[in-house]
Amino acid sequence: MESALVNKKELKHHRVLDESTQKDIKVVTAPALIISVPPWSLASEIGLKQGDKILEINGAGLRDIFDFELQFKNSEEVELLIKRENEELIFEIEKDYDDELGAEFATPLFNGVQECANKCPFCFVENQPFDQTRETLQLRDDDFRLSYFHGSYITLTNLSFSDRKRIEELRPGPLYISVHATEPEVRNLMLGRKKSNPIIDELKWLGSLGIPVHTQIVLCPEMNDKEHLLKTISDLHELKDNPVVSVAVVPVGLTKYHRGGLRRFTIDELFDVINLVENWQNSDLNNRKNFVFLSDEFYLMTHTPVPNQDYYGDYPQLEDGVGMTRLFLNEIEKKLKQIKKPKNRNNQASKKIAWINGTISKPIVEQVANRINQAIPGIELKAFCLDSIFWGVTNVSGLLTGNDIYQGLRYIPKEMIGELIIIPSVMLKEGSDIFLDDMHISELEKKLGIKCKKAWGADELINLVSQTHLHLTATGT
Ligand code: SF4
Repeated sequence: MESALVNKKELKHHRVLDESTQKDIKVVTAPALIISVPPWSLASEIGLKQGDKILEINGAGLRDIFDFELQFKNSEEVELLIKRENEELIFEIEKDYDDELGAEFATPLFNGVQECANKCPFCFVENQPFDQTRETLQLRDDDFRLSYFHGSYITLTNLSFSDRKRIEELRPGPLYISVHATEPEVRNLMLGRKKSNPIIDELKWLGSLGIPVHTQIVLCPEMNDKEHLLKTISDLHELKDNPVVSVAVVPVGLTKYHRGGLRRFTIDELFDVINLVENWQNSDLNNRKNFVFLSDEFYLMTHTPVPNQDYYGDYPQLEDGVGMTRLFLNEIEKKLKQIKKPKNRNNQASKKIAWINGTISKPIVEQVANRINQAIPGIELKAFCLDSIFWGVTNVSGLLTGNDIYQGLRYIPKEMIGELIIIPSVMLKEGSDIFLDDMHISELEKKLGIKCKKAWGADELINLVSQTHLHLTATGT
């Protein structure tokens, strides 16, 4: 968690005069913790070590990696004030302008994450049991730096004068903006605010700085849908390319913990949204193509075929779940064409492999499992599409917890599940083997008594299935 990496006692508060406006700007700096020093790096050459903290560079404190890079890259002589355990050390470096330090920091935001000042009734943070989910899922971040570094959506409702000055100086882009609605009163309702700057003015400001913007609309029934949605799309289209590059429309997702009084869309309403957006696009295909995108849930929940690649262009909103299904289907086909068909083991029973997914994608994953089974003889890949007891909803794969999988499989005989369980990596914390409920994949493996392996995307899924086939063949199991 970004904020957990920040020790509040180490934060330093300063006031700096902004010369252009003669206003005081509040600046909060903090040490930059080094977590890795690659042997080839300048950091290693000068003797920096993992665990060192950079307190100052050329006499100035640091807010984030932007500050560090500006100072480091723009100087040929750099002085670093380092804290190593209880000692303070000075490192002097003579370098070329382009040289990089090469050390890896624990987080790009040394002074912590800026939290959000909204109270959206659909907020995911309010839709979970606080005592049973990771701390990272409980952080309400709304920080333009995270938007730039990780593609997180921000609302621009908490920008201080100092933040605005920094955005004007740094011009970070693209940024990802939650618009929800362009009518101020509807947007304020969506954000749970009494007032906020009109989003169209904010987007024009970003446009004037040359910062490209991807936007999202979380769609809630009877709040920002129908005529409000049409108005929002049309208003954003007026700003097409400067700065608005794309718009993602995502249906509100609610769990059993929701207390904000909202409801989900009915299937008929989802069809209405698909029609509304498609009619808007089709009325001027030359001008409106590849601008507004419906998230995959609209198609999966209505059992409508997902659009083809042409609809998604270069997939600008993949991180928001827009086009993942199409991309996955295309990659499966591509990968299956590349693999050599293993020889069938005559008359031997196929080896079973289980592939876990959420119920929302059942028709798609069953179709994919059938294609893989046709292409790789000797294997029976079976899709297990599970509901989430934890969240209490028919669910997308990314929200299934370790215990959901255990409960979904525990009464099924092992011989029906198979010799391997494939877990899509999207269910695990990034770069780890830990589910949303903190269960480790090895714990699930132990509880079920069946090997579990994670797979990211089509390539890894098919590699895993092919390797399992080869392994089982070679060992004669
Ligand atoms: S902007 Fe809204 S949805 Fe996002 S974290 Fe804040 S309250 Fe939650």
